Amino acid sequence: MDAICIFLGSSPAADPVYARAAEEMGRELAAHNLTCVYGGSNTGLMKLLADSTLKAGGRVVGVTVQALRDKEIFHPGLTHLHVVPTMHDRKTRMVALSDGFVVLPGGIGTFDEFFEIYTLSILGFHSKPLGLLNINNYFAPLDALLDNAEKEGFLKSPHRDVILRADTPGEMIRCLQQASCKS
Ligand code: AMP
Repeated sequence: MDAICIFLGSSPAADPVYARAAEEMGRELAAHNLTCVYGGSNTGLMKLLADSTLKAGGRVVGVTVQALRDKEIFHPGLTHLHVVPTMHDRKTRMVALSDGFVVLPGGIGTFDEFFEIYTLSILGFHSKPLGLLNINNYFAPLDALLDNAEKEGFLKSPHRDVILRADTPGEMIRCLQQASCKS
């Protein structure tokens, strides 16, 4: 593995436990010599991830769209910033640049990214590992939603196993590298 794509909140989050996790994720990526691919933003948990990766000597690649670049602040210290035409191109580029994906707590943008990568995997459009880092049990309501989808017959049980789980960023990287861990 050379690069891992991290999806996480562009907001700072209420509890410092999320900031600590974002920073630890960045340090672990750098320690494992893995390039951090992310949305390029200089706000919230996204900024903390990029800052901590760079501070630990790692590489950070942002992927954004021109419309966002024109109106938002992007991290000035990135190793590289890809600017693509549309949001659809953006996810396509993020998938192409990455060997795996980790989702940390975030908002609607993070949910969208999680579901798209999850759906593409289930449909066989990529076979790269996807991990959910359940910091502070933030994703318990998402698990409840998936439980209900499975119970009601909208989600096949084996498709739950696509989502890899770990308790810490370091453990998550090891999971992705082995493409197996508790699910
Ligand atoms: P949210 O969870 O709603 O805060 O959105 C965060 C997710 O949406 C991140 O994983 C990003 O990929 C994407 N995103 C949000 N804000 C930006 C931004 N300013 N630039 C690029 N991507 C962003």
